[in-house]
Amino acid sequence: MLKRILAVTVGTLLYIVLNWIIIIGPLLSGFITGRIARCGLKRGFLIGILSAALGFGVLIYAINFANIGIGDPWNILLLWIFLLWNLVGLLFSGIGGALGSALSEPIDFSSSFRKHRKKRVSEKEPGTEVYVICPNCGFSNPEQNEYCNSCGTRLVE
Ligand SMILES: [Zn+2]
Repeated sequence: MLKRILAVTVGTLLYIVLNWIIIIGPLLSGFITGRIARCGLKRGFLIGILSAALGFGVLIYAINFANIGIGDPWNILLLWIFLLWNLVGLLFSGIGGALGSALSEPIDFSSSFRKHRKKRVSEKEPGTEVYVICPNCGFSNPEQNEYCNSCGTRLVE
């Protein structure tokens, strides 16, 4: 939980700094947020969105604090561009968060051992491996697997 609060805090700050670079900035800030949070694809997406939304909130507050006259039509146009810009930022921060989070799933020792064992089997009898389809994510696992190599769901009852 603490890790996620840290991730959102870092993500918010990064978003404020990086969101001016369209698409790449939020994607990067979201990615780093996801890497810190390490909580899977869906939660990584949500944490990316959340940190961007908080960053956007801080920016809106700062703009409001700077007291830019909103009555001016040019400023209204700029505000709309800013809103759209941040909407895109929000989306890409979410995508970055999902990617960062999914790519940094904790690697436990037993899963790397299983991968090693799988390799050994396929060396012995190429093409004769039996797979077990994960009921949770559909990943094809070697039949001796107790847990899914992709999502960690228990395969054996
Ligand atoms: Zn799975």
